[in-house]
Amino acid sequence: MNYQGFFRSKLTRLRDEGNYREFAELERHRGQFPSATCHNGPGEVTIWCSNDYLGMGQSPKVLQAMHDALDRTGAGAGGTRNISGTTHDHVLLEDELADLHGKEAALLFTSGYVSNWAALGTLASSIPDCVVLSDALNHASMIEGIRHSRAQKVIWKHNDLADLESKLAALPIDQPKLIAFESVYSMDGDIAPIKEICDLAERYNAMTYLDEVHAVGLYGPRGGGIAEREGLMDRLTVIEGTLGKAFGVMGGYIAASAEVCDFVRSFASGFIFTTALPPAIAAGAAASIRHLKDSDQERAMQQQRVAEVRAKLDAIGLPHIDNPSHIIPVMVGDPMKCKFISDTLLKDYGIYIQPINYPTVPKGTERLRITPSPVHTQQDIDRLVTALEDLWSQCQLARQPLAAQ
Ligand SMILES: *Cc1c(COP(=O)(O)O)cnc(C)c1O
Repeated sequence: MNYQGFFRSKLTRLRDEGNYREFAELERHRGQFPSATCHNGPGEVTIWCSNDYLGMGQSPKVLQAMHDALDRTGAGAGGTRNISGTTHDHVLLEDELADLHGKEAALLFTSGYVSNWAALGTLASSIPDCVVLSDALNHASMIEGIRHSRAQKVIWKHNDLADLESKLAALPIDQPKLIAFESVYSMDGDIAPIKEICDLAERYNAMTYLDEVHAVGLYGPRGGGIAEREGLMDRLTVIEGTLGKAFGVMGGYIAASAEVCDFVRSFASGFIFTTALPPAIAAGAAASIRHLKDSDQERAMQQQRVAEVRAKLDAIGLPHIDNPSHIIPVMVGDPMKCKFISDTLLKDYGIYIQPINYPTVPKGTERLRITPSPVHTQQDIDRLVTALEDLWSQCQLARQPLAAQ
């Protein structure tokens, strides 16, 4: 076989479809986010697609905590959690996370991806005859974890309670079941009916596993996520989150009962056999969580910015998915045009929004996923909307009938 030729032809095909991924090489400047230098682009740009939703990656408190920990303890953890890598900063962060979600315990992983993969994989493979009921739009990390477990998997229609119930009812009542779902879905920005799913879980004797990656830090009076906002945290078996998005640092975790955390700690390969996060990362994440437990200001400001962007898009009839979250998916529906708009925004307007194409979203639903933050200014918003308006006309893309809004 011509190995290199195989790789080349696959990549060429990806390019021809408009689905080849090109990375913007960014350098953020401390204290000036959402501005950054794009080294393989036009220079100074405004970032409109970051998952550092609140700008906490630039927070002086977070940076100070990281500097302090670095100076106090050095660079790396120096081992796996079991072999010399559990530092005081890791333990403090796990306490902070357990408290955030009102759970007995929490367990840290090197990323949210790893936490889903390891926790779901371990739970579903260890419990005899476990069936995983997985929402159709679950994140790749959950899908991989479930696949890795080799447990029986039943996919239910996205956020569809009737479909979930019919699938639960079709299983023997005493068979172990785990319902895996997310609160805020990243690409459409819609939110799961968590209470109703917990009701079904109770009725059919199932455990629940909720990915709150796009909600932690952002919703609830202390940033505990949608489940906190709705007073449901105690009804969930496992709450999973990331430290890399709204908390602005890196890492992932689960929060659950002492037994569940101890079980995953003791049996999950993806937890056991990898070097612990650097203590400075743990200290920075803990500072971020502590700040967002006390301060509502960033959340309120973000919601205000989101409402402003939506209103301005509506005023010019740009189609975006109406949802109850902070994510604004502006729909293009064509991979080439989506990439063209993104390229032109960057090149001619200094606006960076990564195009979201297949396989991240289904073909025909290509989009620009806009994430307004408290640190975007009124002027940033005006420049964004004007640029989009220009490009919509240039690409002859459809607009929403204004009267219908
Ligand atoms: C980003 C993401 C993850 C992974 O979290 P990381 O900390 O980035 O690895 C998990 N679940 C969902 C829904 C995500 O969007």
